[in-house]
Amino acid sequence: MDNDCLFCRIVAGEIPATVVHETETTLAFRDIDPKAPVHVLVIPKDHHPDVVALATADPAGSADLLAAAAAVAEAEGLRADGFRLLFNSGGYAGQEVFHVHAHVLGGAPLGPMLA
Ligand code: IMP
Repeated sequence: MDNDCLFCRIVAGEIPATVVHETETTLAFRDIDPKAPVHVLVIPKDHHPDVVALATADPAGSADLLAAAAAVAEAEGLRADGFRLLFNSGGYAGQEVFHVHAHVLGGAPLGPMLA
């Protein structure tokens, strides 16, 4: 755990979050500032700053994260109409929280990704 990391503190229960899914290695909670009717963040409980760091250090954890994101999409009823799964990585992408997280976005047409 990184004590300066917001999402590590959510995992530790020090900061409240609306948790929608949890496994031994992952946690999924609603985004505090949703950009779509459904906007859930899926994170590994272990701290990795971005998706490249996670994929390099922990391939099994990467698979767990993808499986958790898929489970969230199913549970939120997004599969039939479609949804977006994305990782921001680094400054050009606008990553704000440097604990890797997958955004699960859906519940309405999302429009082109780079609009
Ligand atoms: P990024 O730009 O990919 O790093 O996304 C960070 C996301 O975290 C943004 O969509 C924020 O709205 C979200 N966020 C920031 N703080 C919190 C929080 O305390 N709880 C839930 N989501 C948060």
